[in-house]
Amino acid sequence: MWTCPYCGGTHGLPFQDSQLDGMLCLEPDCGRFEESSADHDDLSQWDITDL
Ligand SMILES: [Zn+2]
Repeated sequence: MWTCPYCGGTHGLPFQDSQLDGMLCLEPDCGRFEESSADHDDLSQWDITDL
């Protein structure tokens, strides 16, 4: 189960589009967006091409 890192709530809505991938907190007092930290592939590719 997903848990919001900001408020600890468990009511989250999965959200994904071409630029964002994560969970949107549905707690009325929070409503923050937690970006998924699972995709680091793009960043590592940038590091390689930077060399
Ligand atoms: Zn929250």
